[in-house]
Amino acid sequence: MTTRFIADLHLEPAHPGRTALLVDFLHRQARSADALYILGDLFDTWIGDDDEAELGLTVVAALQTLTESGVPVFFLHGNRDFLLGECFAAATGVQLLSESVVIDLAGERVLLLHGDTLCIDDADYQAFRAQARNPAWQAHMLALPLAQRRALAGQLRETSRQATEQKAAKIMEVNPDEVERVMRHRGVYRLIHGHTHRPAIHAWLLDGQPARRAVLGDWRDEQGSVLCCAESGWRLEPIARSGG
Ligand code: MN
Repeated sequence: MTTRFIADLHLEPAHPGRTALLVDFLHRQARSADALYILGDLFDTWIGDDDEAELGLTVVAALQTLTESGVPVFFLHGNRDFLLGECFAAATGVQLLSESVVIDLAGERVLLLHGDTLCIDDADYQAFRAQARNPAWQAHMLALPLAQRRALAGQLRETSRQATEQKAAKIMEVNPDEVERVMRHRGVYRLIHGHTHRPAIHAWLLDGQPARRAVLGDWRDEQGSVLCCAESGWRLEPIARSGG
């Protein structure tokens, strides 16, 4: 029995290989999972469930096939696809999670996050996040015509790209004190998140107890990254396309 976790695919039309890799994964390895969790930034941009761009439709169809085969799929929003909503969930059979959720994994309490909330040293980003997660702001955005949303998303991406180039690497890493504070607050010794694109399984002592934090890997055109959690342990696995 294996539960699989992925995040930070950042799917976009300019990188069809990455989408093909995901579709292949959903049709093969994901089929044998107890459950699949997508912890945000599945899409590099998501301007609303009413956008009928080909990329979204391709992913919706592949997810729908997976959920119809009996594999439960869960989605937690990232900092790119925070406008993904109930219509996407209905079309795919994917269950939307709140931004911070504790699940039971083989008898252990495990906290799931996208990971951006742990990067508290990035004050500019946290200010943007507060706006982007505001329901009134989201409703205002979703009421705009698609073409206008597409243009705004492009501007946001460019602003984000420029800001990222200027920030020190440390600012974009999780704050270790915040990691421990959140884990204590939620009463967990296990945490899984993505966002930082620094895949690793960290083990340390939290208040004298063995603690573990898995960071999911981002996806490239030729290689994906999956966290596989079974009773025997956790491991990060690279995945490539079948036959490739
Ligand atoms: Mn992210």
